[in-house]
Amino acid sequence: MRAFQFQQNIDLPPAAALARERLRTFLSNELAKGRFVPHRGSWSAFDPAFSERAGAAGFIGVTWPKRYGGQDLPGLARFVIAAEMLAAGAPCGAHWIAERQSGPQILRNGSERARQDILPRICRGECFFGIGMSEPNSGSDLAAVRTRAKPYKDGWVINGSKIWTSNAHRVHYLIALVRTGEAGPDRHGGLTQFLIDLAAPGVTVRPIRDIAGKHEFNEVFFEDHFVANDMMVGAEGQGWTMVTEELAFERSGPDRFLSDYRLLVELVNRVGPNPDDRQAIEIGRLVAHLSALARMSRSVAGLLQDGKAPNVEAALVKDVGTAFEQEIPAVARRLLPTQASLEDEDDSFSEALADAILRAPSFTLRGGTREVLRGLIARGLGLR
Ligand SMILES: Cc1cc2nc3c(=O)[nH]c(=O)nc-3n(C[C@H](O)[C@H](O)[C@H](O)COP(=O)(O)OP(=O)(O)OC[C@H]3O[C@@H](n4cnc5c(N)ncnc54)[C@H](O)[C@@H]3O)c2cc1C
Repeated sequence: MRAFQFQQNIDLPPAAALARERLRTFLSNELAKGRFVPHRGSWSAFDPAFSERAGAAGFIGVTWPKRYGGQDLPGLARFVIAAEMLAAGAPCGAHWIAERQSGPQILRNGSERARQDILPRICRGECFFGIGMSEPNSGSDLAAVRTRAKPYKDGWVINGSKIWTSNAHRVHYLIALVRTGEAGPDRHGGLTQFLIDLAAPGVTVRPIRDIAGKHEFNEVFFEDHFVANDMMVGAEGQGWTMVTEELAFERSGPDRFLSDYRLLVELVNRVGPNPDDRQAIEIGRLVAHLSALARMSRSVAGLLQDGKAPNVEAALVKDVGTAFEQEIPAVARRLLPTQASLEDEDDSFSEALADAILRAPSFTLRGGTREVLRGLIARGLGLR
């Protein structure tokens, strides 16, 4: 199966171009050895052994300082590595969140102990993270979080719960947003982020099954869970600013338009070298959109590399990118009417289509819903 190498027209610093070449060789070797089958939901596919090999080969946390296990490469090296991993369908879900947002957050705002202890393990592909933002009655309205931490001896005691916590049953840590003080008139005050060790006493994880019957989500309960002071990320009360900055990392990357990339590849392969006019127009349009999205995402990666907080630009990439992801299964159905089935292992197109149909509704929910993003973009453009 040939991959569409969509970043080819993007200018890259030499170190990033070199990282991309090294990664392509690594992934070809992995495929040749049968170590993974290109996976449709690449960044949702949880394979700790793959992450460990990717870490050992130097493909995780490449932009972080060498003293914390990184390689001091430019931010765009991370961008191309992420895009290539997804385009190849590599099962990079175990280390994805840690590398995309938790590690950068610890690097910017964590205690020195947390940096030294955790970042090198993330780079080695041995330490994984989840996101502890949403709560019952606090999804889009994040300022409504009710999980509370109270000071106790040299740390804090946390009580409350989180919901929709992807992979909490198999990652090591969460970064959780909790209330530590008064909310203030805009409700953005009194929020603080903590590193939560999921194996520590006072934390219970319960599964939630999704529409496809899979166990990726969880509920996480905190009952008198103690965290030491140096597990606080940033200063007390800074949580809102940090969480909104973190969302720029979460929303702008290639994972926001490549979730269905394997289905697009399957579609192109199935249509073959002689598409009819309608197929050529529809597929051509998708590929043109993909190209534009890659450029938008790359621009935001450049802003992040310069230390900026492009929250509105990131929201735009996610909104347009997830609409594109949702369109791929719709186009595939129009062009090649097929009985989509997860059971049909002999028909990779039918299986990929069924998987995409089941997963697509979540694309415009996870990481912030479409309506909320559009509100944010409108405010950024001065329209409301
Ligand atoms: C696959 C997946 C993985 C996830 N993983 C995680 C995770 O690991 N960690 C985590 O913390 N969370 C996670 N989430 C939760 C996700 O962030 C929330 O589902 C999302 O923020 C929406 O919150 P909600 O579900 O409470 O919906 P609500 O906020 O109740 O929204 C319901 C509907 O109302 C609309 N709405 C709400 N407010 C407004 C408004 N102000 N203006 C216009 N419309 C509005 C929304 O757009 C939506 O259509 C995940 C979700 C999914 C689907």
